[in-house]
Amino acid sequence: MSEYGLDVRSGPALLKVRDVHVSFRSTRFGRARTVRAVRGVDLDVADGQTVALVGESGSGKSTLANAITRLVPLDRGAVHLGGHALHELQGSDLRRARRDVQMVFQDPYSSLDPSMTVGASVAEPLRNFSDLRGSELDKRVAELFERVSLRAAHRHRYPHEFSGGQRQRIAVARAIAPSPRLVICDEAVSALDVSTQNQILRLLEELQRDLGVAMLFVTHDLSVVWNIADEVIVMYLGELVESGPAERVLDAPAHPYTQGLVAAVPTPDPRAQRSRERVVSKGEVPDPANPPDGCSYHTRCPHVMEVCRTVSPAWRAVGDSTSRVRCHLYESTESGAEPLTLATRSPVSDTGEC
Ligand code: SF4
Repeated sequence: MSEYGLDVRSGPALLKVRDVHVSFRSTRFGRARTVRAVRGVDLDVADGQTVALVGESGSGKSTLANAITRLVPLDRGAVHLGGHALHELQGSDLRRARRDVQMVFQDPYSSLDPSMTVGASVAEPLRNFSDLRGSELDKRVAELFERVSLRAAHRHRYPHEFSGGQRQRIAVARAIAPSPRLVICDEAVSALDVSTQNQILRLLEELQRDLGVAMLFVTHDLSVVWNIADEVIVMYLGELVESGPAERVLDAPAHPYTQGLVAAVPTPDPRAQRSRERVVSKGEVPDPANPPDGCSYHTRCPHVMEVCRTVSPAWRAVGDSTSRVRCHLYESTESGAEPLTLATRSPVSDTGEC
């Protein structure tokens, strides 16, 4: 356990996020307001570990990912990566530290310049973060293409000449080019069909295993984390509400919100499907500019109690000490109640190549 009571089972934390808050100004119906997108988040990712950060659209998970890489500013809090205080670095120090954390986005066009060959895009981080030049640089780019199962000769083509899955492979090649210690995949497979999703997930799994790189896998879709995550962290309305080993969170989700997310994953068994539909979250996510008092989830929770409307729940252990949940249902015993159980899960299927 880390000093903050978080489970870091694979070793010392590579990434430490502490009490991070992020807000931004936006306009709604012509009125300016402050959106509190991330509120007091702590999380750890160990070297070589894959952590899935899950939550609906608007939960703040992508804002948190962008805050970790300093693409958006923190209001307060700390982000340490491999001993560097990322939240304090500026200029060339920040640029150097960024070598260790790379991102893969949902839309590979955001990282692939349509006017450059894809080989030139993959070479860019190598130019920035290594001494490779000329034929050595080109050789390394060719190797990276083969590493993501693309033909080396394809490096001379342009982004529009590739399918969505191939473009995502190129984005992955670009992300691993500078040998980062952490790759953040932000909805990296969300825009792909199921078959292509599985191929990219397999590729990420292989890279994680072969290169030992840690991954923070940000997604709204629990079905894609089943085969890839060691740890699952659940985020709702800017706050974390549950965390624990993937198997426990997915098989026996404790927080009512996580139960709703798991229930939303379709299953081929109609009886199991009917029982799942009873726990799917109802209603809209509240406005993050004006989050509810007490438990943030109380406006949608099927188990809401009076205390939930006014008192924010503290973290409680569930099961063994590797799992935590923020919910008043678990405050009845010292170590927390037994996790509530849900019907069977629906694993992702494996299919062919893209
Ligand atoms: Fe539901 Fe209350 Fe638990 Fe919040 S604290 S998830 S409202 S039971």
